[in-house]
Amino acid sequence: MDGAHVVVTGGAGFLGSALCEELLSAGAFVTCVDDESTGLLANLARVRSDPRLRVLTADVAELDAYRSRVERDGVDVVMHLAAIASPVSYLRMPLHTLRGGSTGTLRALDLAADHGARFVLASTSEVYGDAEVSPQPEAYWGRVNPIGPRAVYDESKRFAEAAAFGYRRARELDVGVVRIFNTYGPRMRIDDGRVIPTFLAQAFRGEPLTVQGDGRQTRSFCYVDDTVRALVVMALSDEPGPVNVGNPHEITMLELADAVLSVTGSSSPVRHLPLPQDDPVRRCPDVTRAREVLGWAPRVGLDEGLRQTAAWVRSRLDGQVTEARP
Ligand code: UDP
Repeated sequence: MDGAHVVVTGGAGFLGSALCEELLSAGAFVTCVDDESTGLLANLARVRSDPRLRVLTADVAELDAYRSRVERDGVDVVMHLAAIASPVSYLRMPLHTLRGGSTGTLRALDLAADHGARFVLASTSEVYGDAEVSPQPEAYWGRVNPIGPRAVYDESKRFAEAAAFGYRRARELDVGVVRIFNTYGPRMRIDDGRVIPTFLAQAFRGEPLTVQGDGRQTRSFCYVDDTVRALVVMALSDEPGPVNVGNPHEITMLELADAVLSVTGSSSPVRHLPLPQDDPVRRCPDVTRAREVLGWAPRVGLDEGLRQTAAWVRSRLDGQVTEARP
């Protein structure tokens, strides 16, 4: 990455900010484009004074209006992470989610294509929808309800994948699509409804852990450092993907609640709430392809990752300085 100019859309988000830090430490020049709809510039506090980082508070869907500022030094890689990824947030901002996933993606693709840059798309396990096969391999086409409430996010990402491969065919764009499964770690917002920060905050407060449905639905949680490493490897490769990025350790939400109680030492009870519509029953990545084509595998186990994330949530609740990761 030494000396390369990397444009990261969504660079102030939970995942994007960790990626910007990693790219800077690998010697890249980084332009972060983020409209702060769900990201926070405070997430970049640790690297904000680095002269190789430029931060633009702007909507990627309006990239044409400020494009000359982004491409001043040429563009080598575009990493498109800008999206409203939390179910609670995309249900609250459905139109913004659709616009980012469609127009935002097209503008980011144009930028990469016009510069002959590599384009890395942060796609999602949500493209598999409520899958009939588990673990999900990349060859599985998915089962998504196109008119359900989650569709603003998962169909946007499916469109984004179609667009990336359309540009690859029509404009010979060098694309790399990663399908990111549930990722967690420090700097996740504790108020955005995602299950790990929600359970941790509830456990620390002594409130009931809100398990939706019967809690037998599964997810597979990947620690942020592992996901970021996969994104960097994808940026450096010429693999088009799609490639699943996730941790294949699959657990039920009831098991997750137990793990959270044990890591926090809390004795909060569990309270069952209704299951949201179209909530996938099983989600687990098949990461064979990531191993084969990227030489990547996750390294951080759930216990260790939960400890790091618990320390972060604790510091937020204590009102400590929030920018630095523990
Ligand atoms: N979930 C839960 N309690 C919560 C929040 C989420 O039981 O307070 C469940 C949710 O129904 C889903 C899983 O946890 O089955 C993961 O939800 P999350 O929103 O973190 O991510 P998703 O995988 O749905 O995008």
